Amino acid sequence: MSTVLESALLPTYPDAKVTFTEGDGVWIKDADGKTYLDFAGGIAVVGLGHRHPAPLAAAHAQLDKLWHASNLFATEPSRTLANLLSSKFGGAQAFFCNSGAEANEAAIKYARKATGKRGVLAVEQSFHGRTLGSLGVTGQQAKRGSFVDDGAVWVQPNDIDGLRAAMSDEIGLILLEPVLGEGGVIPLSRDFVAAARELDALLCFDEVQTGVGRTGSFFAFEQLGVTPDLVTMAKALANGLPIGALVVSDAAAGAFQPGDHGSTFGGNPVSCAAAVAVVETVDDDLLADVRTNGAKLLAGLQGLPHVVEARGRGLLVGAELDIPAGDVVDAALAAGLVTLTSGANVLRLAPPLVVEEAHVDRALSILTEVLSA
Ligand code: PLP
Repeated sequence: MSTVLESALLPTYPDAKVTFTEGDGVWIKDADGKTYLDFAGGIAVVGLGHRHPAPLAAAHAQLDKLWHASNLFATEPSRTLANLLSSKFGGAQAFFCNSGAEANEAAIKYARKATGKRGVLAVEQSFHGRTLGSLGVTGQQAKRGSFVDDGAVWVQPNDIDGLRAAMSDEIGLILLEPVLGEGGVIPLSRDFVAAARELDALLCFDEVQTGVGRTGSFFAFEQLGVTPDLVTMAKALANGLPIGALVVSDAAAGAFQPGDHGSTFGGNPVSCAAAVAVVETVDDDLLADVRTNGAKLLAGLQGLPHVVEARGRGLLVGAELDIPAGDVVDAALAAGLVTLTSGANVLRLAPPLVVEEAHVDRALSILTEVLSA
């Protein structure tokens, strides 16, 4: 395996097996010069592929002009990005921050202010981040551990009766991932989200992982027939530069006033310039390719050895295995394919949206080999 530099990093992640040094499109190269097909995309972040020319040129141009001015002043990229997201949503305002967890923190605060209620209804196995607020509403006891108390009332994914039974007057926010990205790649059903929409609370879709075209539409909720009050975004929005966003629909506007929330780096001009280029690049043609290649990937996974079920939307695809997914990720990496897990026994694939049919074929052939060994 590849050379890995010893370091003084806190061990919050397992030991790295590879040091990556360069990326190009759907390919990524390690310190020893070995090239891998990247079906992880930096955990569903590098949506347009490594060094895509549009965000690359936009970030370079902005680096040469202005890096930071603070939110006490206007800068062009954040205002342009907010306007673009508003038009994608169909009328909304944006707050920019630096990560998915921060975007969810903003959503929780927004809902408290808007409704005067502190209760949150969220889904078992969901993932919303590692800060105390976002971790509290993450439906994974193993991650909450002793760090934080339960911050939500839980419902099983797609359990409509459970959802209605869990609702109460104390709940001001229903927080849902359209596809549970870290909790086993579980798509929520149209009926489940429609039932959530009918309840008397703000509805927030956490589109940190599913947003920006990942599932084959700009927002995953477009395929669910339900418009939320709030959307949180991060990961692919700037193709790898740090950014997060809370998007508030015009229908739910007005709760935050000056002083209610903030972030020193939120709306950073370089990240926002890259994000503007990303949003403009994720067009209808690319979204159609995402749906086609996603369907091909999903179909190819069904029936492979050890695959119990393949599921997902667009290019967020999971294969539930009857063996530990971590072992498969390790074997695929050694064979030149970067993949992810989603829980203990689900292999997750989240390649760049620009992946082509031949790349999907190559990934499937490596996985066939690995799973047949
Ligand atoms: N929400 C979802 C759905 C995620 O997948 C993640 C990260 O994986 C987060 C929130 C947290 O995002 P971040 O790691 O940028 O804080």
